[in-house]
Amino acid sequence: MRLRNVPGSREYIDTCKYAINDPESYKGKWRELFTKSPDSKLYIEIGTGKGRFIHDLAAANPDISFVGIEKFSSVLVRALEKADVIMPENLYFIRFDAENINEIFAEHEVDRIYLNFSDPWPKDRHAKRRLTSSQFLARYNNLLAKDGRIIFKTDNRALFDFSVEEAINSKWNIIDKTYDLHASHLNEGNIMTEYEERFSSQGVPICEMIIER
Ligand code: SAM
Repeated sequence: MRLRNVPGSREYIDTCKYAINDPESYKGKWRELFTKSPDSKLYIEIGTGKGRFIHDLAAANPDISFVGIEKFSSVLVRALEKADVIMPENLYFIRFDAENINEIFAEHEVDRIYLNFSDPWPKDRHAKRRLTSSQFLARYNNLLAKDGRIIFKTDNRALFDFSVEEAINSKWNIIDKTYDLHASHLNEGNIMTEYEERFSSQGVPICEMIIER
């Protein structure tokens, strides 16, 4: 993603009531935030970008609690500005680097992880930065509920093949996968992300895999 510095984005996030600025203090207690449905499932999206996907997903699923995680304030601020228009009550955002995700979620606390159009990091020496690398899968293994799932979408075939291989090598089960999501049964109920809309309008097929342990 091309990053442009957005002046004032940090300050905006610091004062926005939909952004959690001390996520470490919620470790093991995320559900307490969602007072309307404290027993709900907790779904997170890592690399939420401008937030359209999780926003629409939260609006369509009021009984599930959602947290969108984005590393950069200049990107997250766009999601939060959207939130000011119509904010689902079951959605919060945090600015955080997912590399340290085990510092903010307790063991088995999360029911589902969405990874949408994650950065490909094409150089081999950067492979461990990919959000589907074995290093990240080990982090997710810790925080996901026993029957928890990861749902990963991308336009990038090389990243997808890498991710399938990493899942298999890390002993995850591939529940389903497709190399053309929009022509697949998995497309039912699919919510498009900003990147998905852009790539599919150019005729690029979208890959998706669903994995669990
Ligand atoms: N998911 C959105 C979509 O599909 O439209 C955005 C995709 S964009 C290519 C990837 C996003 O992931 C960027 O906004 C980037 O800043 C974020 N990201 C990358 N690495 C991250 C990390 N370690 N922790 C949190 N966010 C990360």
